Amino acid sequence: MSLLADRFPDADLPWVSLGTGPTPVHRLQLPGLSTEVWVKDEAGFGDGGWGGNKVRKLEWIIPEARRRKRTTLFTVGGIGTHWGLAAALYGSEHGLRTVLGLVDQPVDDHVRDQTRRLDASDALVHRFTSVNRLKMAAPFLLARYSSRGRLPYYLPAGGSSPVGTLGYVEAALEIAQQVADGVLPEPGVVVTAVGSGGTAAGLAMGLRMMGLRTRVMGVVVNDSFRLDRVVVADLARRTAELLRSRGVDLGAFDIGPNDLDADDRWLGDTYGATTPEGLEAQQLAEQAGLHLEPVYTAKALAAVRDLDERGVLDGPALFLQTHGSR
Ligand SMILES: *Cc1c(COP(=O)(O)O)cnc(C)c1O
Repeated sequence: MSLLADRFPDADLPWVSLGTGPTPVHRLQLPGLSTEVWVKDEAGFGDGGWGGNKVRKLEWIIPEARRRKRTTLFTVGGIGTHWGLAAALYGSEHGLRTVLGLVDQPVDDHVRDQTRRLDASDALVHRFTSVNRLKMAAPFLLARYSSRGRLPYYLPAGGSSPVGTLGYVEAALEIAQQVADGVLPEPGVVVTAVGSGGTAAGLAMGLRMMGLRTRVMGVVVNDSFRLDRVVVADLARRTAELLRSRGVDLGAFDIGPNDLDADDRWLGDTYGATTPEGLEAQQLAEQAGLHLEPVYTAKALAAVRDLDERGVLDGPALFLQTHGSR
């Protein structure tokens, strides 16, 4: 059973288990850090051929697709999309085919590796040179992949619909439990990369619901669409509404832009472009046994180091290792 369903037994919360929680937490030993930094390691979350944060979203999205009687998922992303790969792998395990509309992004070894994995999956991939071209083609793709009069189940980039965001409300409940169990000090801040917002929004919503003091610091790494604290807070609020509509009593719960942070200072030139600070953080992490990638997690850890250096990290800090390569 999900922690959410356990907490709200009368609510309607269809869920399928795709990974094993709680994911482990451990102290991060990085040279030069003055704040106590912990890692919640999502890398191992997912029993299929891919792990990390996108798998948690699919635990809620796959049963929702079934409820809507859809046989096809349609979603979008960059050509190196972790999300699209996770959807294809876990969707096909559950009888769903996945259609991907992908937009070019800077190509490096990591993206080449992702492209190979996507080619080897069951995903039906359509590539575009710009977001606008994808947008123009989307109605045709939806029509082409309709079956028995039903459109594919459309999911936004990163799986960050309110339903997908429930995955990180669930993760927030795990964190609260780990704090209660004494395996993790109550974090002042949790730092996560923000690519589409679902991870940060779900955490912010769930941590607040559980009454933790922990504030979410989102490290924005994507400039393909608007992504700031207003957008992330709005997703958190819509996720709370979804829970209410399914019978979860949230009392007077509310969440707004002032309840979290989202900052694009560590983004660099664009989505997918490496930054020197990111690469340095990635290298240091590797020496500490933490395997990051350049697009998301390296920039998020660079933010941790930078905030630590400026003395503004409200410790203990919790860094979310969202990358699930294996
Ligand atoms: C997608 C992704 C993120 C960002 O999560 P969002 O919910 O899309 O904001 C962070 N890290 C990794 C490794 C990802 O693949």
